[in-house]
This record gives sequence, C-alpha cells and structure tokens, in this order.
Amino acid sequence: MKSLDSFDFAAIPALNKMLVLELARGAYVEQRENVIALGPSGTGKTHVALGLGLAACQKGLAVGFVTAAALVHELLEATDERRLLRLQKQLAAYKLLIVDELGYVPLSPSGAELLFEVFSRRYERGSVLVTSNLPFDEWTSVFGAERLTGALLDPLTHHVHILEMNGESYRLKVSRRRQSKAGAPTNAS
Ligand code: ADP
Ligand code: MG
Repeated sequence: MKSLDSFDFAAIPALNKMLVLELARGAYVEQRENVIALGPSGTGKTHVALGLGLAACQKGLAVGFVTAAALVHELLEATDERRLLRLQKQLAAYKLLIVDELGYVPLSPSGAELLFEVFSRRYERGSVLVTSNLPFDEWTSVFGAERLTGALLDPLTHHVHILEMNGESYRLKVSRRRQSKAGAPTNAS
C-alpha cells in the first residue's frame, strides 16, 4: 500500500505535481480518460500508480491493479481454459485498471494481441493507467508488430494524461545520501 501522501515530489522535478494531485481527484476516471506514466526504473511510477489507485478507491471507484506480465499470463491461461469471456467481464467491471510495468518483458504475439484487446475494449468505457519504462517509440519492441502498437496506442492515447517521470532512481538517491552521511566513499555518479 502506497499513498501520494508519502510521495516526495521534490525528488522528481520532471513530474507535474499539480497534474498528479488533479488526477487524484478522480475526475479522469469518471470521464473514462487514461493515464500513462513513463520513465526509467526506480523513479516512482509504481508508487504514483498505487497512490492514484488508492485515491480512486477512496472515491468509491472499483480499481484493479496488475502488472502487464501477470495480466498477459492470466489472459493466456483464461484462453486455454475457455474462460476468457469471464475474465474480460471481470476486467470490464473496474472503473480504473492499472497495468504496471508494460515493457519490462517482451510479449508473445498472442499475449500482445490479448492485451491489445483489453485496452481496446476499455476505450471510452473505462480508464487505464499504464506505467512503462519505455518511451512510445520503443513500444513496438514490446508488442512486436508495428501495426498492433499503432492500434494499441491509438485508443490509449486519445484521451490521455501523460506523467513524465524522467529522473534518477529514488532508491539510488536515498542509498547514496545514506552513504555520504556515513562518510563512506561513493562511486555512483
Ligand atoms: P518504478 O516503479 O518507477 O520503478 P517505484 O515506484 O517502485 O519505481 O519506486 C521505487 C521505490 O522508491 C519504492 O519503494 C517507492 O515507494 C520509492 N519512491 C520512488 N520515488 C519516490 C518519491 N518521489 N518519494 C517517496 N518514495 C519514492
Ligand atoms: Mg515499478
């Protein structure tokens, strides 16, 4: 459980704090708009996603949180067991579906196709919040096909709020601060 209250916005100046606080009010979920948080590892994307998820829960909205890899795994398993429709209905019940870590693991063609279907089904019906370590122009490497990536990005980015989270890893920053306090030499640049 992570909340926005424990998020140190000063640690990541690239992030638009006002936008995050505005999103925490939840209006984007009512409007069925999406959020994409982009940035390298350790910059607080999952923390912010959890914080926004919690904020939406507190407004009484049904929120689902899953990593992209786990979601694809579930979709493939549901397909094998002939219960894909049921899973799709379950996913559709969420007002906000948070898909964390898109891009960490490349997807199989059928996995990409299934994930694409989840996103396109939600278009203007429910919100998606995606976090990714990949800039948009590298998304093809996850979805494999250029055509699929375009088809995926199109509905996802039509009504979207982008959270740019470029910065230094928070963990790295904290451990370096700790080291320099202890007077230990540091090699990190
Ligand atoms: P990412 O998902 O971008 O890789 P995480 O959200 O997992 O990064 O952040 C890594 C760790 O650092 C988590 O424990 C998170 O709570 C913490 N963290 C990252 N950024 C901040 C921040 N700005 N303020 C407080 N904690 C942070
Ligand atoms: Mg993360």
